[in-house]
Amino acid sequence: MTHVYTKCVQAGWTPKKGEPRVLPIYQSTTFKYDTSEQMAKLLDLEEPGYFYTRLQNPTSDYAAQKIAELEGGRKAMLTASGQAASFYSVFNICEAGDHFISSSAIYGGTFNLFEVTLKKLGIEVTFVNQDAPEEEIQKAFKANTKLIFAETIANPAGNVLDIQKMADIAHKNGVPLIVDNTFATPVHCRPIEFGADIVIHSTSKYMDGHASALGGVIVDSGRFDWSKYPEKFPGMNEPDESYHGLIYSEAFGKDAYYIKATVQLMRDLGSMVSPQNAFLLNMGLETLHLRMQRHSENALETAKFLKNHPKVAWVNYSGLKESPYYELAQKQFDAGRSCGVLAFGLKGGKENSIQFMDSLQMIAIVTHVADTRSCVLHPASHTHRQLSDEQLIAAGIRPDLIRLSVGIEHISDIIQDLEQALEQA
Ligand SMILES: *Cc1c(COP(=O)(O)O)cnc(C)c1O
Repeated sequence: MTHVYTKCVQAGWTPKKGEPRVLPIYQSTTFKYDTSEQMAKLLDLEEPGYFYTRLQNPTSDYAAQKIAELEGGRKAMLTASGQAASFYSVFNICEAGDHFISSSAIYGGTFNLFEVTLKKLGIEVTFVNQDAPEEEIQKAFKANTKLIFAETIANPAGNVLDIQKMADIAHKNGVPLIVDNTFATPVHCRPIEFGADIVIHSTSKYMDGHASALGGVIVDSGRFDWSKYPEKFPGMNEPDESYHGLIYSEAFGKDAYYIKATVQLMRDLGSMVSPQNAFLLNMGLETLHLRMQRHSENALETAKFLKNHPKVAWVNYSGLKESPYYELAQKQFDAGRSCGVLAFGLKGGKENSIQFMDSLQMIAIVTHVADTRSCVLHPASHTHRQLSDEQLIAAGIRPDLIRLSVGIEHISDIIQDLEQALEQA
């Protein structure tokens, strides 16, 4: 099984003789053992095994394993939401007194997490322009910088990350690169191939694909050598008293990051996905490759239509030849396909944008993005309304930006709806 399309369908749960063909839902909080010693060994991490669903559950593990294989990673852990995945991915490395670097072109929820909530935990972030030259980004590093975070395709502006450039900068400074690959999905881009160390997703988007189950995932490439920098990463290299002084990098080597996230963060903070939602996610993954193909074909057609419309001021979609990100998209994305999300602005500014959105009939105004149904959002008045104009612009979001998530309906119906709404704008 080598092709990503086949992995979407077949990876993860591979039943043996007489077992269910479809991934079973292990709807159980707990697991049974025969002796007290068996249980003690599990709790001391001397043996692998399931004991409580807050840490691990077979249904979520099989779905996670499929995603790990899709991304070309070693191990993956599901979380209850994308937000939990973002938080754990950083908090598994950083503690109070640490600093990290993030691209400013990121999802609004992640921006709040980094700028407001992590600050309260004593973790400081510096936002950088991911398109800036290396020397510029280098200036953001401090003695206590522990990682770089960025999105493959930024939500909502659509900026495409030069993953290799960012991974090189991170590695020169002895820190890992974490990439949020929600919009591209591993069907179109596998950041680990370009040097990313950890990949995360909001699986609530394309992976689930139907807007039915909230979830997140953290994929560990196993490539970052935590033991090389013992002082920089004490969490990986110093004894964990809650496991009798176990040292993650020594005990688990390439799996240190993944195991620590599971047995320490999940144990202490929860946010585990439910088995039912893991099942729905796994079902969504089986058609991810088909949907992504249609999403990006429809989005490209839509982008071309909008670009040529007299009422449209600008369109940002990396599949368009005139996009500043076209070359990068061709390099990093399979067949140059990006995703179904595009951004555009109307002539006449914000008021006109609102009039346009209110005139749409099939395409709905929803907070969500990246599911089968076409939808729109105006970040400046919806998801990013807490940001100042300067912060909006730093995040690559113009005040007139409309985010259009192109679904998998027939392209003629999508364009017809846009056309009639543009007439009224
Ligand atoms: C939606 C989203 C998140 C947050 O995920 P939830 O599942 O809503 O918690 C994180 N990153 C990106 C790029 C997203 O689009």
